[in-house]
Amino acid sequence: MNAVFEIHPEVDAGCADAPVLRERGQREVFCGLTGIIWLHRKVQDAFFLVVGSRTCAHLLQSAAGVMIFAEPRFATAIIDDRDLAGLADANDELDRVVTRLLERRPDIKLLFLVGSCPSEVIKLDLSRAAQRLGKAFTPNVRILHYSGSGIETTFTQGEDACLAALVPEMKTTEQRQLVVVGALADVVEDQFRRLFDELGIGPVHFFPPRRANELAAIGPNTQFLLAQPFLADTARALEERGAQRLSARFPLGAEGTTHWLRAAADAFGVDPTRFATVVGPRRERAARALARHRTQLAGRSVFFFPDSQLELPLARFLARELGMRLTEVGTPFLHRGHMLPELELLPEGTVISEGQDVDRQLDRCRAAQPDIVVCGLGLANPLEMDGLTTKWSIELVFTPIQGFDQAADLAELFTRPLTRRLKLVA
Ligand code: SF4
Repeated sequence: MNAVFEIHPEVDAGCADAPVLRERGQREVFCGLTGIIWLHRKVQDAFFLVVGSRTCAHLLQSAAGVMIFAEPRFATAIIDDRDLAGLADANDELDRVVTRLLERRPDIKLLFLVGSCPSEVIKLDLSRAAQRLGKAFTPNVRILHYSGSGIETTFTQGEDACLAALVPEMKTTEQRQLVVVGALADVVEDQFRRLFDELGIGPVHFFPPRRANELAAIGPNTQFLLAQPFLADTARALEERGAQRLSARFPLGAEGTTHWLRAAADAFGVDPTRFATVVGPRRERAARALARHRTQLAGRSVFFFPDSQLELPLARFLARELGMRLTEVGTPFLHRGHMLPELELLPEGTVISEGQDVDRQLDRCRAAQPDIVVCGLGLANPLEMDGLTTKWSIELVFTPIQGFDQAADLAELFTRPLTRRLKLVA
């Protein structure tokens, strides 16, 4: 095996067994409805109907902007005071809204009824609603449901809940195949597809698919790679269908992408020379592109508040490929099974925290005075007021950052705010 693919020899024991600071206090997070913003772009004939309040509608509209030129692919059916007071039958209203929508929009092939805090408060049974409406509109439209409610969730869990709801819809197959799990920008998906083709790995399916009728089948000869680190429920649902998860680092940075691809290559028996020939030049190009950012970021410190669940792989990338110092790496949940390969590569002694007690964490952050803070939107302004430089974690989910060709773009998301800050103080 070519040395370029080996784990850096300077790695110590990492953080595989490191103690984790567990906090269970007040949390500052966005709800799972946010996932609709990138999911509606990914599955092009799906529609997301949030059954929620005006607050939910405002959240979606401000996060997604207003779509002027295209037919919208998400909307909010507002639960109003009459529904909340039990004066109207919310189910009847929902049936009316869905019927009107689907009659007007024959392009919709997959409709998600998305639960919210208000729909949970009035105990509207969206699973029964999806079944009832599904019968009425089959076979033209598949109707599913999931919850995007903000109670005890993080914003990326919306995608997890959505994909987990799709798993029972997957047909069964005995075919040996690879499924890449997690919404990726089309440009990234195309790059990975080319790489798998060149490696001779196939057939490869991406989940979620771009169109509802391209949903992969699944079975005991399916192996899957998680492309996103926040898909615990989806992974469990796939495993219950017999598929096996390939343990790998996430495809962030040159190193993470190499390891991720190698997990698939090893599982599919790809010859090491072929792997080196296909992957080597791309990895080297990515490393060269990262060098410019390393000069700006090496030695700088970064603090992660728990928000997207991307924190651990990002921290590994920033520490190992860009030389940044990790002051604290917070994650909303720590799934040790999925995260072990990432923990192994974090520098020994890194403070890892799970969950949140926001005031205490803010105190730790202010005391550490990091060069950059990765946090949710709600914390960014107060921290900027304190003179700290911030990066919105949600931007890291919206932006194509996976793979070799995006490694420098990912680094730039960190260099840009630092450069801006330096210009402001100059
Ligand atoms: S689902 Fe809950 S947390 Fe999310 S916007 Fe609606 S009310 Fe707010």
